[in-house]
Amino acid sequence: MYTIGYAAQRPDAPLAPFPFERRELRSNDVAMEILYCGVCHSDLHQARDDWGISRYPIVPGHEIVGRVTAIGSQVKRYKVGDAVAVGCMVDSCQQCDQCRKGEEQLCRETNTQTYNGLDRITKTPTYGGYSKHLVVREEFVLRVPDGLDLAKAAPLLCAGITTYSPLRTWNVGPGSRVAVLGLGGLGHMAVKLAAGMGADVTVVSRSADKLADALALGADKLLVSADAKAMASARSSFDLIIDTIPVRHDVSPYMALLDIDATPVIVGQVGPIDEQQTVPLILGRRRLAGSPIGGIAQTQEMLDFCAKKNILPDCEMIRMEQINEAFERMERSDVRYRFVIDMASLQAPAKV
Ligand SMILES: [Zn+2]
Ligand SMILES: [Zn+2]
Repeated sequence: MYTIGYAAQRPDAPLAPFPFERRELRSNDVAMEILYCGVCHSDLHQARDDWGISRYPIVPGHEIVGRVTAIGSQVKRYKVGDAVAVGCMVDSCQQCDQCRKGEEQLCRETNTQTYNGLDRITKTPTYGGYSKHLVVREEFVLRVPDGLDLAKAAPLLCAGITTYSPLRTWNVGPGSRVAVLGLGGLGHMAVKLAAGMGADVTVVSRSADKLADALALGADKLLVSADAKAMASARSSFDLIIDTIPVRHDVSPYMALLDIDATPVIVGQVGPIDEQQTVPLILGRRRLAGSPIGGIAQTQEMLDFCAKKNILPDCEMIRMEQINEAFERMERSDVRYRFVIDMASLQAPAKV
């Protein structure tokens, strides 16, 4: 299938139109027209090879919403016209203990990433959602429930599940005391989802500037981390911290906020953080944790939860050709809270 995307050809090149072929349908494949794709911070990192693992050309995008245009002969769950979604992974071994448990994100053979991965059969690079069409095996396709706004649902596929999964792992529910560090794409979803689960949610921020935003997103309060008195009076008052800060930082000022047995979960920074003093870990029997996205079943559960609770990301819609400008604005944190590309702005190429 001939299609078009936007690709970076090298780390210092802007994204530009890139015609390419999607694979012919295998018997268990679903083909879709992409309608919307969210813009994740990792897209920017991968386009610029910040993690040193990028393969070029690279077509980013792993927050994908579209409609089914064709199905393989064995596909049971989807039919042409269905509203569907694809997140950060498009395949896994399907055999190991983790895959069998529905934790494909933790596949022992590593899952196949939606872009910058290698197809398990052809060993050719995977290209992501900054494109007009996509072909994905049925098991990695999600159903967008009725009532969920397709234009806004896309960021749920990475930012949503990345924050939903630790909230579920640590059993957040009514009465849970959750603090959220960082109020960007991930942080604003953490606030909405934790509030939707009935938790008491506090945004921790350097200044009080974000108070109105935090409350509007569903937080109960804002704690100013630069206010020593406020930080001292918030000691031992949280069960869980969702740390979405996307850069290297020091976790220690937040450790005192945690109650006994409580956990700070890092979901934002992929890379080093500052050296951590073990005293608050040992004395409070606390665990410093990390968490990736969730499995396919849990991602579907998250979409269904969001539809039921009417939880959607706050999005700014852009056209495909505005992507380079959007990357620059993301670097300045100048987005509330997620860019979403309207793929109608990208014209499909004529067949050759
Ligand atoms: Zn992402
Ligand atoms: Zn596996």
